[in-house]
Order: sequence, then C-alpha cells, then structure tokens
Amino acid sequence: MNAFNFQNKKLYAESVPVSDLIRSYGSPLYIYSKGQIETNWGLFKKSFGDHPYLICYAVKANSNLAVLNILAKLGSGFDIVSLGELERVIAAGGDAKKCVFSGVAKDEISIQKALEYGIYCFNVESEDELDRIEFVASSMNAVAPISVRVNPNVDANTHPYISTGLAENKFGVDADVALSMYKKAALSDSLKVCGLDYHIGSQITEIAPFIEALERALELVEKLKSENILVEHLDIGGGVGVSYDDEKIINIEDYLNSVTNRAKEMKILVEPGRSIVANAGIFVTRVEYLKRNNLKSFAIVDGAMNDLIRPSLYESFHQAVLIDDNSIGINDNWDIVGPVCESADFLAKNRNLTLEKGDYIAIMTAGAYGFVLSSNYNSRPRVPEVMISGKHHSLVRKRETIESLFENESLFEDDTNQ
Ligand SMILES: *Cc1c(COP(=O)(O)O)cnc(C)c1O
Repeated sequence: MNAFNFQNKKLYAESVPVSDLIRSYGSPLYIYSKGQIETNWGLFKKSFGDHPYLICYAVKANSNLAVLNILAKLGSGFDIVSLGELERVIAAGGDAKKCVFSGVAKDEISIQKALEYGIYCFNVESEDELDRIEFVASSMNAVAPISVRVNPNVDANTHPYISTGLAENKFGVDADVALSMYKKAALSDSLKVCGLDYHIGSQITEIAPFIEALERALELVEKLKSENILVEHLDIGGGVGVSYDDEKIINIEDYLNSVTNRAKEMKILVEPGRSIVANAGIFVTRVEYLKRNNLKSFAIVDGAMNDLIRPSLYESFHQAVLIDDNSIGINDNWDIVGPVCESADFLAKNRNLTLEKGDYIAIMTAGAYGFVLSSNYNSRPRVPEVMISGKHHSLVRKRETIESLFENESLFEDDTNQ
C-alpha cells in the first residue's frame, strides 16, 4: 500500500485527489490514511507469526483519537508517557490492560490512575521512581507490574535529540542499577516483576544497534535468572526508522525474526510510533508569495514551524511535492518558508520546483511527530486533521478558532490604581 500517490500528476490520498480535500477543509491541513496505518501495523503483527507478542503503539507519535481508535480496533496495545495519553487511549476505545507506561517522571496521581485502570506494566526509569510506584501501590493495597528500563549504552547512529540509549541520555538505568532494582522489586509485596525494557532512540535505519541492545538485555535476563528473578517479557522499544528521502530502511520482518529467534522463551513487546504513522500522513500548505533575491529564492507558504517543527528542530528532511504538478510558474531551487518570525521557520530547503502563487505543496511523511508537536506560536490556530479511507473522509480534529487561542487567559485585575 502506498496511500499517497500520483495519478496523472495529481497527488491522491487513497482514492481522493488532495485538491478535493483542500476544497473541503482548507489550508494548511494534515491528512492521514487509515489504510496505511492498518498496513503498517499489520506488518508488525505478521512478522511475529506465532510468537507471543504485544504491539504497543507509541501514542506520542500521533495521538489523535481517530488514529488511536483505528489501532484499538486492530487489537493494538499502547505505549503511554503521561496520564493524558492514557486517558486518550481509553477515550479512543483502547484497552488499558494493553498499555505500558514509559517516561522518566511519573507523578503519584498518574501512577495511581494507571493502577486503577489496571495497565499492563510500568517501565521504570529510576530507583526513585521504583520507590514511588511501590509507595503508591502499597497505599492502594495494589500490586504494580514493573519492568526496569535499562540503558544498554549503544549508539543508535541517529540525531542526538532522538538518541536515548547512551549513558549520557536521561533515560533508563545502567545494568548494575537495574539488577539491584529487580532484587528490591522481587522482595516487595507491592511490586511484581514482569519484564525488562529498553528503547535506544528513534529513526534508526540499521538493525545492528537494535541487536546489540537486545544482546545486552538478554545478558541481564540471564543474570536475573541466576538470582531466581524471572522476567516474562522483553520490551524492545520502538525506534524503527522510516524512509523520508528514499533512504534504505530496516526490514521489519527480518528485525523481528532475529529478535524472536534470540529470545525464544519470552513474550516480545514492541513500541513502534513513527513506523506506524509517519508515511500515513502528509501536511499540505499553500504558496502565498514568491520572493527572490540574488542569493535565495523563497516560497512563502501558509504553513509554518508551529504546525510542523521537525525541519526546524532536527533539521529533518521531508519530501516536498506539488499536489498538482502542472509545470506552470517559475522553475527554481526554492526554500519553503512559513510566516513565523524566526529564521528557523522552514519546511524544506533548496527544492527544485516549478511554482506560482496559489500552488499547494504536500510535505510528505508528516504523520509522526507532526501535529502532536504543533503549537500556537505567533497566535496561529492549530490546523485541522482529516482521516481518509478509500473515498470516505472526515475531519478528525477541527481547525482551531482565533477566539479559542485566548479563552483561558484573563486580564490582571490590579486594584492599587483605584
Ligand atoms: C518515543 C518512544 C517510542 C517510539 O519511538 P518511534 O521512534 O516513534 O518508534 C517508543 N518507546 C519509547 C519509550 C519512546 O519514548
């Protein structure tokens, strides 16, 4: 499946021309494909075959209720990092019992709620956090299922902001600390050891770092076994990279086969985010002005870094294509820039396109870490999100209004002037 494809030089979202969607919903706009999400998730499922598994979609990659609902209907579990994400999953029809709770700073209320909902497992990221989970569980007369997130200290060869498995990163604990945490948990009446967890980073495009992390984790599983601490599941995290620019990526089936072959006795949890939703979404924006000087040519569009921050934040590359490639206009190497007052406000740089005012550009592979990272900077209402399946489409988040931007604000009533 390739949800976004060209037919007669016009970009389609499944069976509908993107230009039709713009007519219905305006610009800028996010468009997601239900079929692509299902295909991507299905590839993980198929790769596990008969091996016991749980796919826990990483909610933070795209947390729209419609996206979560599509995955819930497939039977997916979820990786959450906040109480807000857990409540979203439940609101979308997801099963709390298939949720794992990651994140370095879980507060008491979130832990309590997660226990009440009966989540599958807490991925514990520090000794202090283990103590807090034990405290909350014991005060509720509950037993908290836990995995320790180990930091395998492997280099995922990815952007430093999305690398998490090195000792210098804030995530997880070293193997020796993990060992003492497991010993403590095994002795506690309020904690139940159920798994071991790691997540080494995002947008990883080679299998080697994953296997290195896996082998270190399995060494720890063996060590725990020798201490009579049995770990039932191994949570291998997410991080599978996607192709933003036709680059070579991991074959998911090969990767998961090499995991299940090495951890034959264990249930495998995986936490894919980007690889489920990235290529299931595009961001569409209109060319407002063309501006050229003797150094640079700018296509100024109505979408900006507040809508899609990945290029500004990580200097990440997204393909930029015309939704109707009619070859009318000025051919040049354009920087596609937005209206926000920051020089970092660009969506793409140096792209050879033939443009005129009023053209629409699709920023491809924008379904992950797109809308979820958007903001109201420069008092810009957040853009709508649309889901499409075949010919059917509907709004799954409406465009924000300008009034809503300041509805939670109030004037400061200062009576000293009276
Ligand atoms: C972000 C995150 C994921 C998902 O990462 P992707 O690269 O989107 O697959 C999975 N697990 C944890 C703990 C995360 O923080």
